[in-house]
Parts: sequence; structure tokens; C-alpha cells
Amino acid sequence: MPEANRLPAARSFRDTARVLAGTRNAVAWAALGHATAAYDIALSYCEQRQQFGKPLVGFQLVQDSLVKMLAEVCSMQLFCLRLGRLIEEDRLTDTVSAIAKMNNTRKARMVVAEARDLLGGNGILLDFHVMRHMADMEALHTYEGTANIQTLIVGRDITGVGAFV
Ligand SMILES: Cc1cc2nc3c(=O)[nH]c(=O)nc-3n(C[C@H](O)[C@H](O)[C@H](O)COP(=O)(O)OP(=O)(O)OC[C@H]3O[C@@H](n4cnc5c(N)ncnc54)[C@H](O)[C@@H]3O)c2cc1C
Repeated sequence: MPEANRLPAARSFRDTARVLAGTRNAVAWAALGHATAAYDIALSYCEQRQQFGKPLVGFQLVQDSLVKMLAEVCSMQLFCLRLGRLIEEDRLTDTVSAIAKMNNTRKARMVVAEARDLLGGNGILLDFHVMRHMADMEALHTYEGTANIQTLIVGRDITGVGAFV
């Protein structure tokens, strides 16, 4: 590769890690977007879909599922709010972006899986979009480092012991 193609200011893995801190922040936000969309779709679907003579939202188990989803979405929002404030103050660290990426992708996978379940058979059709969010979440779960790798980054920080190998 010609020397002219070298990225300026990219000299070590530490420089790469700074990029990854930023992209992991973006993944945490993207996961929040997918989870919010899946929650919204599931809520409106359950308001409209009638079974046993009433809308699905009238069943306690369905409300339990919707409320759990909402609680996870709210916790993801708090992670994103914190990320935004740290970036504003130029204080975002590898550890914070790793824990936010790990938390939000795990939670979003759970939320889209609940949404897919609440839509019954329609949950696997592209027409209702939940399956699109689920497929996107699988990519977000893996790229910019898997949840396992984010866990190891945070684990190294809080214990002082690297457990990668
Ligand atoms: C849609 C998509 C887009 C991508 N885009 C890009 C891109 O633009 N640029 C780029 O460079 N890469 C990209 N990737 C690659 C992505 O970053 C890697 O797939 C990811 O880092 C995981 O690496 P791997 O696939 O080699 O899995 P592996 O490293 O083989 O991991 C497989 C499994 O083993 C686990 N594992 C590995 N090591 C450990 C360990 N030490 N302790 C515990 N568990 C461990 C992992 O968590 C995972 O569950 C993309 C991937 C996807 C799916």
C-alpha cells in the first residue's frame, strides 16, 4: 500500500481504540433506535389485534411483555444520554463506550425478540418490520466487537486483570 494512503494520526492500536470508542457509542444509539421501533410496532399491533373477543393489550401477559420492553428501552436511553454528555465534555472512555454497547445491544435483542413474539405468526413477516429490526440487531450485536469482547474490556478496567487470553 502506498505511503500516501496511510491515515493521518493513526500510529498505534490506541488510535484505533479511540475510533472504536466513537463507533461503539453510535452502535449503542442504533440499538436504542431498533428497540424503540420494535416496541412501538408491538404496542400498536397489540392495540389493534383482537383475540378471544378483545384487543391483545387487554391481556395481563401481553401488558407484562410490553412493560418489560419499555423498561429496557428507558434504561438504554439513560446509557445514551450519559454517552452524549461525556462526548460533549470530551470525557468518553473505552470502558464507558464498551459497557454502553454491550448493554444496549443485549437489551435491544431482548426487546425485538419480545416484539417478534407479540406479533405471533406476523412477527416473522417483513411486512411488519420487526424481523428487519431483529436482523439489524444481530449485525449490531457482533460488529465493533462482540458483547463478550466489550465485557472483557470493562472487566479489565474494573479488576485490573486482562482476561482476553
Ligand atoms: C454486518 C457486519 C459488518 C461488519 N463490518 C465490519 C467492518 O466494516 N470492518 C471490520 O473490520 N469488521 C467488520 N465486521 C467484523 C466484526 O467486527 C467481527 O465479526 C467481530 O469483531 C467478531 O469477530 P469474528 O467474526 O472474527 O468472531 P470471533 O472473534 O471468531 O468470535 C466468535 C465468538 O467467540 C467469542 N470470542 C472470541 N474471542 C473471545 C475471548 N477472548 N473471550 C471470550 N469470547 C471470545 C466472540 O465473542 C464470539 O461470540 C463486520 C461484521 C458484521 C457481522
